[in-house]
Amino acid sequence: MRASDLEQDFDRVLFTQEQVEARVAEVAAQIDADYEGRDILMVGVLNGAVMTLADLCRSMRSHMTMDWMAVSSYGAGTKSSGVVRILKDLSGDIEGKDVLIVEDIIDTGLTLSYLVQNLRSRGPKSLEIMAMFRKPEALTSPVDVRYVGFDIPNEFVVGYGLDYAGRYRNLTDVATLAPHVYA
Ligand code: 5GP
Repeated sequence: MRASDLEQDFDRVLFTQEQVEARVAEVAAQIDADYEGRDILMVGVLNGAVMTLADLCRSMRSHMTMDWMAVSSYGAGTKSSGVVRILKDLSGDIEGKDVLIVEDIIDTGLTLSYLVQNLRSRGPKSLEIMAMFRKPEALTSPVDVRYVGFDIPNEFVVGYGLDYAGRYRNLTDVATLAPHVYA
């Protein structure tokens, strides 16, 4: 779905599908250069990072495997509950592996701080983070993010995996919602 398919639901398009694709390719090239000759275990955070991980790994030339985690975040609202819970753990062991966490968006940083702490205790060889979007103004739990797609203003956005009440993940552009959608 493009933003133009459902124009009345969106206030503003922040990034078009083409801009997202171009940026993902740039980040993929950066990852390839940094991990040259190494196997990467990409850990996607469900459900938001599905599109990012799928596109990122297909743009990469490095060998990679993938695993997924699900953690609680916003539920159906647009504000963080402040509580992080593991809903689905990894299927495999990460000990001694080069792990790259792939996250959709960093808002407060709470989710990632928790994830990093949790995964670090499992003894990976290395642990880095790729986040497709980051809201620098909202960052209250600072996390060391190696790769960022785009820094965005402190607004609630949907598309490219990001939802509102489960919807809009299949929007290929990234947009803010029109006020009537929240009502
Ligand atoms: P944090 O723990 O950094 O505050 O929040 C991270 C999670 O909150 C993200 O993985 C995502 O699920 C959700 N989130 C944060 N900001 C947004 C946003 O602007 N739009 C959507 N759809 N989800 C967001």
